[in-house]
Amino acid sequence: MTTAITTVNPATGRPIATYAGWDAGRIDAAVDRAHTAATAWARVPVAERARLAARLAVTLREHSGRLASLAVEEMGKPRRQAEGEVEKSALTAEYYARQGPGILADEQVEVGGADAWVAYEPAGLVLAVMPWNFPVWQVMRFAIPSLVAGNGVLLKHAANVTGSALALQDIFTAAGFPEHLVTALVVAEPDVPDATARLIGDDRIAAVTLTGSNRAGAAVGAAAGRAAKKSVLELGGSDAFVVLDDADIEAAAAAAVTARFANTGQSCVCAKRFILSAPIAEAFTSAFTAGVEALRMGDPRQEDTQVGPLAREDLRTAIHRQVTESVVAGAKLLTGGEPLPGDGYFYRPTVLAHTAPGMPAFDEETFGPLAALTVARDDDDAVRLANATPYGLGLSVWTGDRARGLALARRITSGAAFINAIVASDPRLPFGGTKHSGHGRELAAAGIREFTNTRTYWIA
Ligand code: NAP
Repeated sequence: MTTAITTVNPATGRPIATYAGWDAGRIDAAVDRAHTAATAWARVPVAERARLAARLAVTLREHSGRLASLAVEEMGKPRRQAEGEVEKSALTAEYYARQGPGILADEQVEVGGADAWVAYEPAGLVLAVMPWNFPVWQVMRFAIPSLVAGNGVLLKHAANVTGSALALQDIFTAAGFPEHLVTALVVAEPDVPDATARLIGDDRIAAVTLTGSNRAGAAVGAAAGRAAKKSVLELGGSDAFVVLDDADIEAAAAAAVTARFANTGQSCVCAKRFILSAPIAEAFTSAFTAGVEALRMGDPRQEDTQVGPLAREDLRTAIHRQVTESVVAGAKLLTGGEPLPGDGYFYRPTVLAHTAPGMPAFDEETFGPLAALTVARDDDDAVRLANATPYGLGLSVWTGDRARGLALARRITSGAAFINAIVASDPRLPFGGTKHSGHGRELAAAGIREFTNTRTYWIA
Protein backbone atom coordinates (compact mmCIF):
# COMPACT_ATOMS: atom_id res chain seq x y z
CA MET A 1 0.00 0.00 0.00
CA THR A 2 1.35 3.44 -0.91
CA THR A 3 0.95 5.96 1.88
CA ALA A 4 0.93 9.73 1.51
CA ILE A 5 1.23 12.90 3.57
CA THR A 6 -1.09 15.83 2.89
CA THR A 7 -0.06 19.03 4.61
CA VAL A 8 -2.79 21.45 5.69
CA ASN A 9 -2.69 25.20 6.27
CA PRO A 10 -3.95 25.52 9.87
CA ALA A 11 -5.08 29.12 9.36
CA THR A 12 -7.58 28.02 6.70
CA GLY A 13 -7.98 24.26 7.14
CA ARG A 14 -7.22 23.82 3.43
CA PRO A 15 -4.68 21.33 2.00
CA ILE A 16 -1.32 22.66 0.77
CA ALA A 17 0.51 19.73 -0.81
CA THR A 18 0.62 15.93 -0.94
CA TYR A 19 3.84 13.91 -0.71
CA ALA A 20 4.09 10.18 -1.45
CA GLY A 21 5.53 8.30 1.53
CA TRP A 22 8.69 6.37 0.78
CA ASP A 23 8.58 2.58 0.81
CA ALA A 24 11.18 0.45 2.62
CA GLY A 25 13.34 0.10 -0.52
CA ARG A 26 13.57 3.84 -1.08
CA ILE A 27 14.39 4.46 2.58
CA ASP A 28 17.09 1.77 2.45
CA ALA A 29 18.71 3.32 -0.63
CA ALA A 30 18.69 6.75 1.05
CA VAL A 31 20.30 5.33 4.20
CA ASP A 32 23.01 3.77 2.07
CA ARG A 33 23.85 7.06 0.36
CA ALA A 34 23.71 8.92 3.67
CA HIS A 35 26.02 6.38 5.31
CA THR A 36 28.55 6.71 2.49
CA ALA A 37 28.40 10.52 2.76
CA ALA A 38 28.80 10.43 6.56
CA THR A 39 31.79 8.07 6.33
CA ALA A 40 33.59 10.46 3.97
CA TRP A 41 32.58 13.51 6.03
CA ALA A 42 34.11 12.06 9.21
CA ARG A 43 37.53 12.38 7.53
CA VAL A 44 37.06 16.07 6.65
CA PRO A 45 39.13 18.26 9.03
CA VAL A 46 37.10 20.03 11.70
CA ALA A 47 38.24 23.46 10.45
CA GLU A 48 36.60 22.76 7.08
CA ARG A 49 33.43 21.47 8.76
CA ALA A 50 33.29 24.67 10.78
CA ARG A 51 33.84 26.78 7.64
CA LEU A 52 30.74 25.23 6.11
CA ALA A 53 28.77 26.01 9.27
CA ALA A 54 29.68 29.68 8.73
CA ARG A 55 28.49 29.36 5.12
CA LEU A 56 25.26 27.84 6.39
CA ALA A 57 24.58 30.98 8.45
CA VAL A 58 24.82 33.06 5.27
CA THR A 59 22.62 30.65 3.30
CA LEU A 60 19.98 30.56 6.03
CA ARG A 61 19.73 34.34 5.99
CA GLU A 62 19.53 34.37 2.18
CA HIS A 63 16.62 31.92 2.31
CA SER A 64 14.97 33.32 5.44
CA GLY A 65 11.89 34.59 3.59
CA ARG A 66 11.15 31.23 2.01
CA LEU A 67 11.73 29.22 5.19
CA ALA A 68 9.59 31.63 7.21
CA SER A 69 6.78 31.43 4.63
CA LEU A 70 6.82 27.65 4.85
CA ALA A 71 6.55 27.76 8.66
CA VAL A 72 3.68 30.25 8.42
CA GLU A 73 1.86 28.13 5.86
CA GLU A 74 2.50 24.66 7.28
CA MET A 75 2.10 25.23 11.01
CA GLY A 76 0.61 28.71 11.36
CA LYS A 77 3.55 30.42 13.08
CA PRO A 78 3.18 34.21 13.13
CA ARG A 79 5.50 35.61 10.45
CA ARG A 80 7.83 37.63 12.68
CA GLN A 81 8.37 34.66 14.98
CA ALA A 82 9.11 32.47 11.95
CA GLU A 83 11.79 34.90 10.79
CA GLY A 84 13.20 34.95 14.33
CA GLU A 85 13.54 31.18 14.25
CA VAL A 86 15.65 31.31 11.09
CA GLU A 87 17.86 34.08 12.50
CA LYS A 88 18.43 32.11 15.71
CA SER A 89 19.49 29.14 13.58
CA ALA A 90 21.96 31.36 11.70
CA LEU A 91 23.41 32.63 15.01
CA THR A 92 23.81 29.02 16.15
CA ALA A 93 25.65 28.15 12.94
CA GLU A 94 28.01 31.09 13.62
CA TYR A 95 28.49 29.99 17.21
CA TYR A 96 29.57 26.47 16.21
CA ALA A 97 31.67 27.79 13.32
CA ARG A 98 33.65 29.79 15.92
CA GLN A 99 33.57 27.50 18.94
CA GLY A 100 33.19 24.00 17.46
CA PRO A 101 36.87 23.33 16.67
CA GLY A 102 37.96 24.42 20.17
CA ILE A 103 35.30 22.33 21.92
CA LEU A 104 36.25 19.28 19.85
CA ALA A 105 40.02 19.71 20.22
CA ASP A 106 42.03 16.95 21.90
CA GLU A 107 42.39 17.33 25.69
CA GLN A 108 45.74 16.34 27.10
CA VAL A 109 45.57 14.51 30.44
CA GLU A 110 48.55 14.34 32.84
CA VAL A 111 48.97 10.62 33.71
CA GLY A 112 52.72 10.43 34.42
CA GLY A 113 54.95 8.25 32.26
CA ALA A 114 52.72 8.22 29.17
CA ASP A 115 51.19 10.53 26.62
CA ALA A 116 47.39 10.51 27.17
CA TRP A 117 44.56 12.54 25.77
CA VAL A 118 40.83 12.57 25.13
CA ALA A 119 39.55 13.00 21.57
CA TYR A 120 36.01 13.78 20.39
CA GLU A 121 35.59 11.77 17.22
CA PRO A 122 32.57 11.52 14.90
CA ALA A 123 29.84 9.09 15.94
CA GLY A 124 28.58 8.37 12.40
CA LEU A 125 25.13 8.74 10.89
CA VAL A 126 22.52 10.01 13.38
CA LEU A 127 18.75 9.71 12.96
CA ALA A 128 16.88 12.87 14.01
CA VAL A 129 13.13 12.55 14.68
CA MET A 130 11.85 16.10 14.90
CA PRO A 131 8.64 17.98 15.78
CA TRP A 132 6.76 20.64 13.86
CA ASN A 133 6.62 23.42 16.45
CA PHE A 134 9.90 25.08 15.39
CA PRO A 135 10.28 23.49 11.97
CA VAL A 136 13.64 25.15 11.27
CA TRP A 137 15.14 25.66 14.72
CA GLN A 138 14.52 22.17 16.12
CA VAL A 139 16.34 20.64 13.16
CA MET A 140 19.17 23.19 13.16
CA ARG A 141 19.94 23.08 16.86
CA PHE A 142 20.71 19.39 16.47
CA ALA A 143 22.05 19.25 12.89
CA ILE A 144 24.57 22.13 13.07
CA PRO A 145 26.63 20.78 15.99
CA SER A 146 26.29 17.23 14.72
CA LEU A 147 27.68 18.16 11.30
CA VAL A 148 30.52 20.16 12.84
CA ALA A 149 31.26 17.08 14.99
CA GLY A 150 31.69 15.10 11.76
CA ASN A 151 28.39 13.20 11.65
CA GLY A 152 25.75 12.71 8.96
CA VAL A 153 22.08 13.48 9.59
CA LEU A 154 18.98 11.49 8.60
CA LEU A 155 15.98 13.71 9.23
CA LYS A 156 12.56 12.25 9.98
CA HIS A 157 10.63 15.48 10.38
CA ALA A 158 7.01 15.78 11.53
CA ALA A 159 4.55 14.98 8.75
CA ASN A 160 2.80 18.38 8.81
CA VAL A 161 6.07 20.23 7.99
CA THR A 162 7.26 18.00 5.16
CA GLY A 163 7.72 21.02 2.85
CA SER A 164 10.04 22.58 5.45
CA ALA A 165 11.99 19.32 5.80
CA LEU A 166 12.70 19.14 2.08
CA ALA A 167 13.58 22.85 1.95
CA LEU A 168 16.07 22.41 4.82
CA GLN A 169 17.79 19.55 3.02
CA ASP A 170 18.31 21.91 0.07
CA ILE A 171 19.67 24.64 2.35
CA PHE A 172 22.49 22.36 3.51
CA THR A 173 23.55 21.51 -0.04
CA ALA A 174 23.21 25.16 -1.09
CA ALA A 175 25.61 26.05 1.75
CA GLY A 176 28.16 23.58 0.36
CA PHE A 177 27.68 20.50 2.54
CA PRO A 178 28.11 17.29 0.49
CA GLU A 179 25.02 15.82 -1.12
CA HIS A 180 23.24 13.15 0.98
CA LEU A 181 25.03 14.22 4.17
CA VAL A 182 21.68 15.59 5.36
CA THR A 183 18.77 13.54 4.05
CA ALA A 184 15.09 14.23 4.69
CA LEU A 185 13.11 10.98 4.71
CA VAL A 186 9.42 11.16 3.79
CA VAL A 187 7.70 8.62 6.03
CA ALA A 188 3.92 8.65 6.14
CA GLU A 189 1.58 7.31 8.77
CA PRO A 190 1.00 4.49 9.66
CA ASP A 191 4.60 3.50 8.81
CA VAL A 192 6.30 5.92 11.24
CA PRO A 193 6.75 3.73 14.38
CA ASP A 194 7.92 0.65 12.44
CA ALA A 195 10.11 2.56 10.00
CA THR A 196 11.81 4.47 12.83
CA ALA A 197 12.37 1.33 14.88
CA ARG A 198 13.89 -0.38 11.84
CA LEU A 199 16.19 2.58 11.22
CA ILE A 200 17.34 2.63 14.83
CA GLY A 201 18.20 -1.08 14.61
CA ASP A 202 20.10 -0.59 11.33
CA ASP A 203 23.88 -1.03 11.66
CA ARG A 204 24.52 1.96 9.38
CA ILE A 205 22.90 4.27 11.92
CA ALA A 206 24.95 5.10 15.00
CA ALA A 207 22.50 6.89 17.27
CA VAL A 208 19.15 8.67 17.46
CA THR A 209 17.84 11.97 18.77
CA LEU A 210 14.16 12.77 19.19
CA THR A 211 12.41 15.99 20.06
CA GLY A 212 8.72 15.41 20.59
CA SER A 213 6.06 13.98 22.83
CA ASN A 214 6.62 11.47 25.62
CA ARG A 215 4.70 8.85 23.64
CA ALA A 216 7.10 9.12 20.68
CA GLY A 217 10.08 9.44 23.06
CA ALA A 218 9.16 6.21 24.82
CA ALA A 219 8.95 4.35 21.48
CA VAL A 220 12.25 5.73 20.18
CA GLY A 221 14.04 5.32 23.52
CA ALA A 222 12.92 1.69 23.75
CA ALA A 223 14.11 0.96 20.20
CA ALA A 224 17.47 2.59 21.00
CA GLY A 225 17.74 0.51 24.15
CA ARG A 226 17.06 -2.71 22.24
CA ALA A 227 19.76 -1.78 19.73
CA ALA A 228 22.17 -0.62 22.49
CA LYS A 229 22.47 2.78 20.84
CA LYS A 230 22.86 6.23 22.25
CA SER A 231 19.70 8.37 22.34
CA VAL A 232 18.98 11.96 23.26
CA LEU A 233 15.34 12.65 24.13
CA GLU A 234 13.98 16.20 24.27
CA LEU A 235 10.39 15.70 25.41
CA GLY A 236 7.49 17.59 26.88
CA GLY A 237 7.44 20.20 29.59
CA SER A 238 5.08 21.83 32.08
CA ASP A 239 7.35 24.62 33.23
CA ALA A 240 6.56 26.56 36.38
CA PHE A 241 6.72 30.37 36.37
CA VAL A 242 6.97 31.31 40.04
CA VAL A 243 6.21 34.89 41.12
CA LEU A 244 7.29 35.73 44.67
CA ASP A 245 5.80 38.49 46.80
CA ASP A 246 8.80 40.83 46.30
CA ALA A 247 8.76 40.64 42.46
CA ASP A 248 8.22 43.53 40.07
CA ILE A 249 4.64 42.56 39.21
CA GLU A 250 4.26 44.58 36.01
CA ALA A 251 7.53 43.21 34.59
CA ALA A 252 6.66 39.66 35.66
CA ALA A 253 3.16 39.84 34.15
CA ALA A 254 4.43 41.23 30.83
CA ALA A 255 7.12 38.54 30.66
CA ALA A 256 4.56 35.87 31.59
CA VAL A 257 2.40 36.76 28.58
CA THR A 258 5.37 36.26 26.23
CA ALA A 259 6.53 33.14 28.10
CA ARG A 260 3.17 31.44 27.72
CA PHE A 261 1.84 32.65 24.35
CA ALA A 262 4.95 32.77 22.12
CA ASN A 263 4.49 30.30 19.25
CA THR A 264 0.78 30.22 20.17
CA GLY A 265 1.74 28.37 23.34
CA GLN A 266 3.23 25.46 21.40
CA SER A 267 6.71 25.28 22.85
CA CYS A 268 8.16 22.74 25.26
CA VAL A 269 9.66 25.59 27.34
CA CYS A 270 6.63 27.82 27.35
CA ALA A 271 5.75 28.69 30.95
CA LYS A 272 2.62 26.66 31.60
CA ARG A 273 1.89 26.75 35.33
CA PHE A 274 2.01 30.14 37.03
CA ILE A 275 2.61 29.77 40.76
CA LEU A 276 1.88 33.00 42.59
CA SER A 277 2.75 34.08 46.13
CA ALA A 278 -0.54 34.83 47.88
CA PRO A 279 0.11 38.56 48.60
CA ILE A 280 0.69 39.42 44.92
CA ALA A 281 -1.68 36.88 43.31
CA GLU A 282 -4.50 39.32 42.68
CA ALA A 283 -2.33 42.12 41.25
CA PHE A 284 -0.42 39.69 39.02
CA THR A 285 -3.60 37.99 37.81
CA SER A 286 -5.25 41.22 36.71
CA ALA A 287 -2.09 42.57 34.96
CA PHE A 288 -1.49 39.18 33.29
CA THR A 289 -5.11 38.71 32.16
CA ALA A 290 -5.17 42.23 30.71
CA GLY A 291 -1.98 41.42 28.81
CA VAL A 292 -3.49 38.18 27.47
CA GLU A 293 -6.65 39.95 26.33
CA ALA A 294 -4.54 42.52 24.46
CA LEU A 295 -2.77 39.85 22.36
CA ARG A 296 -3.41 40.18 18.63
CA MET A 297 -4.61 36.84 17.29
CA GLY A 298 -5.14 36.43 13.57
CA ASP A 299 -3.66 35.76 10.16
CA PRO A 300 -0.12 34.43 10.78
CA ARG A 301 1.07 36.04 7.54
CA GLN A 302 0.62 39.52 9.05
CA GLU A 303 3.72 41.10 10.61
CA ASP A 304 1.83 42.32 13.69
CA THR A 305 0.08 39.02 14.54
CA GLN A 306 1.18 37.68 17.91
CA VAL A 307 -0.95 34.53 18.19
CA GLY A 308 -1.83 32.29 15.25
CA PRO A 309 -3.88 29.12 14.91
CA LEU A 310 -2.90 25.85 16.52
CA ALA A 311 -0.88 23.74 14.12
CA ARG A 312 -3.46 20.94 13.75
CA GLU A 313 -7.14 20.46 14.48
CA ASP A 314 -6.50 17.64 16.99
CA LEU A 315 -4.26 19.98 19.00
CA ARG A 316 -7.14 22.45 19.33
CA THR A 317 -9.49 19.65 20.39
CA ALA A 318 -6.92 18.56 23.00
CA ILE A 319 -6.51 22.02 24.53
CA HIS A 320 -10.28 22.54 24.69
CA ARG A 321 -10.67 19.23 26.53
CA GLN A 322 -8.02 20.32 29.05
CA VAL A 323 -9.82 23.61 29.61
CA THR A 324 -13.32 22.16 30.00
CA GLU A 325 -12.25 19.27 32.24
CA SER A 326 -10.27 21.65 34.46
CA VAL A 327 -13.26 23.97 34.80
CA VAL A 328 -15.46 21.00 35.75
CA ALA A 329 -12.81 20.10 38.35
CA GLY A 330 -13.00 23.59 39.91
CA ALA A 331 -10.76 25.92 37.86
CA LYS A 332 -12.11 29.41 37.16
CA LEU A 333 -12.13 30.64 33.56
CA LEU A 334 -10.90 34.26 33.48
CA THR A 335 -10.69 34.75 29.73
CA GLY A 336 -10.87 32.72 26.50
CA GLY A 337 -11.87 29.09 26.83
CA GLU A 338 -13.29 28.48 23.36
CA PRO A 339 -12.36 27.89 19.74
CA LEU A 340 -12.75 30.84 17.40
CA PRO A 341 -15.63 30.30 14.98
CA GLY A 342 -14.79 30.17 11.28
CA ASP A 343 -11.96 28.68 9.27
CA GLY A 344 -8.72 27.45 10.77
CA TYR A 345 -7.75 26.04 14.13
CA PHE A 346 -7.75 29.21 16.25
CA TYR A 347 -8.32 29.05 20.01
CA ARG A 348 -8.84 32.11 22.18
CA PRO A 349 -5.90 32.82 24.52
CA THR A 350 -7.11 31.38 27.82
CA VAL A 351 -6.41 31.98 31.50
CA LEU A 352 -7.59 29.59 34.21
CA ALA A 353 -7.33 30.56 37.90
CA HIS A 354 -7.58 28.24 40.92
CA THR A 355 -5.89 25.36 39.12
CA ALA A 356 -4.43 22.58 41.26
CA PRO A 357 -2.94 19.10 41.09
CA GLY A 358 -5.63 16.71 39.86
CA MET A 359 -6.68 18.99 36.98
CA PRO A 360 -5.53 18.44 33.38
CA ALA A 361 -4.35 22.07 33.11
CA PHE A 362 -1.94 21.41 35.99
CA ASP A 363 -1.04 17.72 35.61
CA GLU A 364 -0.67 17.44 31.82
CA GLU A 365 1.45 19.32 29.35
CA THR A 366 -0.77 22.02 27.79
CA PHE A 367 0.48 22.59 24.24
CA GLY A 368 -1.46 25.70 23.25
CA PRO A 369 -2.65 29.13 24.43
CA LEU A 370 -3.67 28.14 27.96
CA ALA A 371 -2.23 29.53 31.21
CA ALA A 372 -2.93 27.81 34.53
CA LEU A 373 -2.69 30.01 37.65
CA THR A 374 -2.21 28.63 41.17
CA VAL A 375 -1.69 30.45 44.47
CA ALA A 376 1.07 29.32 46.87
CA ARG A 377 0.87 29.92 50.63
CA ASP A 378 4.61 30.57 50.98
CA ASP A 379 7.96 29.67 49.39
CA ASP A 380 7.79 26.06 50.61
CA ASP A 381 4.36 25.68 49.04
CA ALA A 382 5.64 27.23 45.80
CA VAL A 383 8.43 24.64 45.71
CA ARG A 384 5.94 21.82 46.38
CA LEU A 385 3.62 22.98 43.58
CA ALA A 386 6.43 23.60 41.07
CA ASN A 387 7.75 20.08 41.66
CA ALA A 388 4.27 18.51 41.47
CA THR A 389 4.67 17.49 37.83
CA PRO A 390 6.18 14.55 35.99
CA TYR A 391 8.12 17.05 33.84
CA GLY A 392 11.35 18.94 34.55
CA LEU A 393 12.46 21.09 31.64
CA GLY A 394 12.70 24.79 32.57
CA LEU A 395 11.88 27.04 35.51
CA SER A 396 11.42 30.78 35.79
CA VAL A 397 11.42 32.56 39.18
CA TRP A 398 10.56 36.24 39.67
CA THR A 399 11.76 38.05 42.77
CA GLY A 400 13.45 41.23 43.96
CA ASP A 401 15.94 39.13 45.94
CA ARG A 402 18.41 37.19 43.81
CA ALA A 403 19.59 34.98 46.70
CA ARG A 404 16.01 34.04 47.61
CA GLY A 405 15.23 33.22 43.98
CA LEU A 406 18.34 31.09 43.64
CA ALA A 407 17.64 29.23 46.91
CA LEU A 408 14.13 28.46 45.71
CA ALA A 409 15.29 27.39 42.23
CA ARG A 410 17.78 24.94 43.74
CA ARG A 411 14.89 23.07 45.39
CA ILE A 412 12.96 22.62 42.11
CA THR A 413 14.05 19.93 39.62
CA SER A 414 14.58 21.17 36.06
CA GLY A 415 17.15 21.29 33.28
CA ALA A 416 17.35 25.09 33.41
CA ALA A 417 16.53 27.77 35.98
CA PHE A 418 16.08 31.41 35.01
CA ILE A 419 15.69 34.17 37.61
CA ASN A 420 13.81 37.29 36.47
CA ALA A 421 13.99 36.06 32.89
CA ILE A 422 12.01 33.86 30.55
CA VAL A 423 13.30 30.35 29.86
CA ALA A 424 14.82 30.23 26.39
CA SER A 425 17.43 28.19 24.57
CA ASP A 426 20.74 29.83 23.69
CA PRO A 427 23.52 28.20 21.64
CA ARG A 428 26.08 29.12 24.34
CA LEU A 429 24.25 27.17 27.07
CA PRO A 430 23.16 23.52 27.28
CA PHE A 431 19.48 22.74 26.82
CA GLY A 432 17.59 19.65 27.96
CA GLY A 433 15.34 18.07 30.52
CA THR A 434 15.11 16.04 33.69
CA LYS A 435 12.36 13.63 34.85
CA HIS A 436 9.89 12.89 32.00
CA SER A 437 11.21 15.83 29.98
CA GLY A 438 13.93 13.55 28.67
CA HIS A 439 17.68 13.10 28.87
CA GLY A 440 20.78 14.36 27.14
CA ARG A 441 21.60 17.91 26.13
CA GLU A 442 21.60 20.02 23.00
CA LEU A 443 23.61 23.19 22.26
CA ALA A 444 26.85 24.50 23.78
CA ALA A 445 29.76 22.12 24.44
CA ALA A 446 27.55 19.46 26.04
CA GLY A 447 25.32 19.33 22.94
CA ILE A 448 28.06 18.92 20.35
CA ARG A 449 29.76 16.21 22.41
CA GLU A 450 26.57 14.12 22.80
CA PHE A 451 27.09 12.53 19.40
CA THR A 452 30.83 12.01 19.46
CA ASN A 453 32.94 9.07 20.47
CA THR A 454 34.74 10.39 23.55
CA ARG A 455 37.88 8.43 22.86
CA THR A 456 40.82 7.76 25.17
CA TYR A 457 44.38 7.64 23.76
CA TRP A 458 47.36 6.39 25.72
CA ILE A 459 50.84 6.10 24.27
CA ALA A 460 53.41 4.54 26.58
P1 NAP B 1 5.12 13.97 18.36
O1 NAP B 1 3.77 13.58 17.94
O2 NAP B 1 5.81 13.14 19.35
O3 NAP B 1 6.01 14.05 17.03
C1 NAP B 1 7.40 14.31 17.06
C2 NAP B 1 8.06 13.48 16.00
O4 NAP B 1 8.00 12.10 16.40
C3 NAP B 1 7.38 13.56 14.64
O5 NAP B 1 8.36 13.49 13.64
C4 NAP B 1 6.51 12.31 14.64
O6 NAP B 1 6.21 11.86 13.34
C5 NAP B 1 7.39 11.33 15.36
N1 NAP B 1 6.70 10.22 15.99
C6 NAP B 1 5.46 10.20 16.52
N2 NAP B 1 5.19 8.98 17.03
C7 NAP B 1 6.30 8.22 16.84
C8 NAP B 1 6.64 6.87 17.16
N3 NAP B 1 5.79 6.06 17.80
N4 NAP B 1 7.85 6.42 16.80
C9 NAP B 1 8.72 7.23 16.16
N5 NAP B 1 8.46 8.52 15.83
C10 NAP B 1 7.26 9.01 16.17
O7 NAP B 1 5.22 15.42 18.94
P2 NAP B 1 4.65 16.74 18.30
O8 NAP B 1 3.18 16.78 18.55
O9 NAP B 1 5.10 16.86 16.89
O10 NAP B 1 5.41 17.86 19.16
C11 NAP B 1 4.94 18.28 20.40
C12 NAP B 1 5.69 17.65 21.55
O11 NAP B 1 7.10 17.83 21.40
C13 NAP B 1 5.35 18.28 22.87
O12 NAP B 1 5.21 17.31 23.85
C14 NAP B 1 6.58 19.16 23.15
O13 NAP B 1 6.76 19.51 24.48
C15 NAP B 1 7.66 18.34 22.60
N6 NAP B 1 8.82 19.20 22.34
C16 NAP B 1 9.91 19.10 23.16
C17 NAP B 1 11.02 19.93 22.97
C18 NAP B 1 12.23 19.83 23.85
O14 NAP B 1 13.26 20.36 23.46
N7 NAP B 1 12.19 19.19 25.01
C19 NAP B 1 10.99 20.85 21.94
C20 NAP B 1 9.86 20.92 21.13
C21 NAP B 1 8.78 20.08 21.34
P3 NAP B 1 4.79 12.21 12.66
O15 NAP B 1 4.66 13.68 12.61
O16 NAP B 1 4.93 11.61 11.29
O17 NAP B 1 3.75 11.56 13.51
